[in-house]
Amino acid sequence: MIIPRPAKAALLLVLLTLAACTAMPSFLQIGIGGQNNTDSDMPAFENRLETDHFVLNWTSRSRHVKDNIADPAIIEETSRYLEIAWNRYADMFGRNPYTPPGKDKVEVVFRDIDCYGVADPPEGPIQFNAAAWVKNPGIRQPTSAHELFHKVQYAYGYKTQWRPKKPYMWFTEGTAAWSEVFVWGRVSRTCKVDTIFRNTKLDLYEADDMAMPFWIYFVGGNGEKPNNGLMVKLLERCEALKDEKKALLEVIQETHGSADQFFAGFAKERKNGFWSEECSVPYRCILGPDGNDMVDKVRSIQKNAKSG
Ligand SMILES: [Zn+2]
Repeated sequence: MIIPRPAKAALLLVLLTLAACTAMPSFLQIGIGGQNNTDSDMPAFENRLETDHFVLNWTSRSRHVKDNIADPAIIEETSRYLEIAWNRYADMFGRNPYTPPGKDKVEVVFRDIDCYGVADPPEGPIQFNAAAWVKNPGIRQPTSAHELFHKVQYAYGYKTQWRPKKPYMWFTEGTAAWSEVFVWGRVSRTCKVDTIFRNTKLDLYEADDMAMPFWIYFVGGNGEKPNNGLMVKLLERCEALKDEKKALLEVIQETHGSADQFFAGFAKERKNGFWSEECSVPYRCILGPDGNDMVDKVRSIQKNAKSG
């Protein structure tokens, strides 16, 4: 398709904006320019719910109907999910998700955006897609944990003190997708679990949030004894080195010895037998947004590949 230059520039801008916008099928990332996704489109929020660590804002009166949420129970439910994720992260990482200087709570807004959720820039609110939130309850747990995990990344200096080099979404989106499974054993989109097994040639560094199983492998979540502390070590090392690849290699070398062997082991299990029977919850059972068991799906993909 030939795209005129100004349109190309606009599309590029949209795609750049969306680089941090998660939980959206990648085919939708093309051709959605011009939708409401700027601050000027922020509706007025007449409703507010304050919890221990969050201030949630929503409206049921926007003229743009896709901004609206009529049922406050949806907001209350989301606030509980956010608090659970906050506590899991604070317990595990020993530090709180990032809040801007002078603030100790994370602002959350529900409105019409082009993806399920976004938590960018670091000092901005977490934004959730109001219409998707109403329509698809299965995304509420994983997407809230995912967006809050970006605030954990910011607490380790990502985008606040250092920026990763491209391609980096296998790391930033991949670990945020890992957090969906860590907190809930559920993902907002099934492709985060099965794509890398379906397409075993997909480059890990190009896999964006579909690199998620690599991060399960990294913490040994597909084995008997996951070591989630490795994720803490990784983010601490990222903060010190300001380089996610170097940080990962160091942590792998310290934990497993040879990095080459580690990556070769992942490549092998990606083709066959990633999940044994003895995995620990929640990594053993990962649900898609529709509640279907994704681990079972991957097992049958691998079985079919073997026999085919
Ligand atoms: Zn994300």
